[in-house]
Amino acid sequence: MIKKFIRKMLGVKEKQPVRDLTEPIILGAAEHGIDSKLLSSNAIRVTQTLQEAGFKAFVVGGAVRDLLLSVKPKDFDIATDATPEQVKRLFRRAFIIGKRFQIVHVMFGSDLLEVTTFRGAGESSAPKDEHGRVLRDNNFGPQHEDAMRRDFTINAMYYDPATQVVLDYHGGIADIRDKTLRIIGQPEARYREDPVRLLRVVRFAARLGFTIEPHTREPIPVMAPLINNVPAARVFDEMLKLLMSGHALACLQQLRKEGLHHGLLPLLDVVLEQPIGMKFVTLALESTDNRVKAGKGVSPGFLFASLLWHQVVEKWTAYRAAGESPIPALHLAADDVLDSQTEKLALQRKIGSDMRDIWSMQPRFERRNGKAPYKLLEHPRFRAGYDFLLLRCESGEIEMEIGEWWTAFYEGDAVERETLLTTAVAAPAGAKRKRPPRRAPRNRASGEGGDTATTTSTTGSTSGDE
Ligand code: ATP
Ligand code: MG
Repeated sequence: MIKKFIRKMLGVKEKQPVRDLTEPIILGAAEHGIDSKLLSSNAIRVTQTLQEAGFKAFVVGGAVRDLLLSVKPKDFDIATDATPEQVKRLFRRAFIIGKRFQIVHVMFGSDLLEVTTFRGAGESSAPKDEHGRVLRDNNFGPQHEDAMRRDFTINAMYYDPATQVVLDYHGGIADIRDKTLRIIGQPEARYREDPVRLLRVVRFAARLGFTIEPHTREPIPVMAPLINNVPAARVFDEMLKLLMSGHALACLQQLRKEGLHHGLLPLLDVVLEQPIGMKFVTLALESTDNRVKAGKGVSPGFLFASLLWHQVVEKWTAYRAAGESPIPALHLAADDVLDSQTEKLALQRKIGSDMRDIWSMQPRFERRNGKAPYKLLEHPRFRAGYDFLLLRCESGEIEMEIGEWWTAFYEGDAVERETLLTTAVAAPAGAKRKRPPRRAPRNRASGEGGDTATTTSTTGSTSGDE
C-alpha cells in the first residue's frame, strides 16, 4: 500500500499484469460458438491424418478468424508440429514449396490446403536485408512461438476440429468481439521485418470493417516507404488479394486514408491518380466486388485490363490522330501500356495476354453485320470482352445501345440474331449523315460504321475495322 503510494507520488507507472504469452486462453465450443458445418471436410481430413500420426494439427489464421465471425472461410491453412518432410509423407498429393518460408501444399482434387510447420521465435536471428526485412526463415519451434510470429491477434488463433477447442495466445477473441485490428508485438519492428504487413492491415480493416488499434496504426505512414524494398512480385500478390477481396473499393479508400496511396505502389498511382478514367475504374471495381461477394470467379486479366484501359484509350487516340488506322493503333497502344506496366507492376505474362485479348476485341464489337458477330461469339475470351464492353457502356464511354444490341445477340436464337443483324445494318444510315467517318473504310459493307452507337466519346469513332 505504502509502496503504491510512493510510486504514485514519484509518478512511477503501476506495472500492468503481463499475460503469459506461452499459455493460450482455451475456449470450448460453447464459448466460441463456431459452427462446425462451416469447416471443410478436407481441413478435417488433414488435421485428423496428422493427429493420427502423432502430430499436433490445427486449423489456423484467417480460417479461424472467419469461423469466429460466422463467415465460411475461402481456404483453410493448417499448422502442425510435423516438419514439411513428415507432412509430405502422409499425403498422396503433397508438395513442398517456397524458399523463404517452406510450406506444404496438400491437394484433394482441385482443393488445396496449405500446411505450415510451427515457426520458431528466431525472426530476430533470421537473415535480413539492410532495412531489416526478413529474407529467409525456416526455423521451426513450439506453438506459442508460432503464434507470436503471426501478424495480427485475430490471425493467431488455432482451432482443433477434433476437440472443437480454440487456442488464443494474444487476445484475438477479445479483439474480434471489439472489432479491433491489433498487430502482435512491437509495431515498428513487425512492419520492418515484413513491410507487406502494412498492406495487410489495410486490407483486413477494410474487409472486416474493423478499427485499427492506435499503436498498430500510428507507424503506418512513416513506415510506408519500406514497401519499395519488397520484391515487386510479392507486393503484386498482396495487391491482387486486396483487389479481389470483395472490398476493393473500401480497401483503396482505406489505403488513401492511411497515407499509403501516393508514389509508393505503382498500381495505386494507376488506379487512384486518374481523374478521367475514375468512373470506369470505380465501376470495374464495384462489379469485381459484387462478383466476389456472389461467389463468382474474377480474372486478374479482366481486372487489370479495366485498371489500365484509360491509358490504352489515351494512347489509342493519339496514334489515330497521328494517322494510324483504328485496329493497328489499338495494338500499338496496348503494346505501349503493357511494355511500361508489365515490369512496374510485375504483371505475369498470362495476365498480360488476357488483357491484350480483352482490349483488342473491343473494336470488333462495332462490326454488326455479316459473319463478324458470329465469329466474335466464338472467341475463347468472348465473355470477358463482352463484359468489358458493358462496362464501357455503363461508364458512358460508348452508347448503351451497342451493349444492349450485343446482349440481345448473345442471348438470342438463330432467328433473333438474323433480325438483329438487319436492324444494326439499318441503323447507321441516319447516323452516318450526322457524323461522317473520318476516312473511307476499305471494306465497309452497306451502312457499317459511323453509327453513333459505335462512336466513343473518349475515343472518337472506333468503327471501320481493317
Ligand atoms: P485471407 O482470408 O485473406 O486468406 P489470411 O489471414 O488467411 O486472410 P493468408 O495470407 O492466407 O491470410 O495467411 C494465413 C495466415 O498466415 C494469417 O492469418 C497469418 O496468421 C499468417 N500470415 C500471413 N502473412 C503474414 C505476414 N506477412 N506476417 C505474419 N503472419 C502472416
Ligand atoms: Mg488465408
